[in-house]
Amino acid sequence: MIKSKYQRRNTVTYVYSGVELEERTCPHCNEPLSPWIAPPESGWGVIVVCNNNKCPHYVGSDEQILNKRDDSCLGCRYAENPDNKYTPFNLLAWCK
Ligand SMILES: [Zn+2]
Repeated sequence: MIKSKYQRRNTVTYVYSGVELEERTCPHCNEPLSPWIAPPESGWGVIVVCNNNKCPHYVGSDEQILNKRDDSCLGCRYAENPDNKYTPFNLLAWCK
C-alpha cells in the first residue's frame, strides 16, 4: 500500500486504494479516522471510520439501537463519506 501525503490548503490528504482522502479526525474522541472499503452492495466507495472502541459515540450507541437483542453486540461507529462531502453518518458495526 503506497501512501503519499502532501499539504494543500491546510488539508492533509492521502491516497488510499486509488482514492484521495482528507485526513480526518473523529469529533467525538479526536482519533484519526481509518479508511475502509465498503462492501459493493452498500453503494459506498471508500469511507473513513472511527475504529476507537472507547469512542464516546460508539460506547453510547448500543442503547440507541432499537430492538437490540441482549446477546448481540452491535454499535454505531462514527463514519464519514468522502463521496458525499464528508457527511457524517452512523456505521452499524459488530464490536467483535
Ligand atoms: Zn471516535
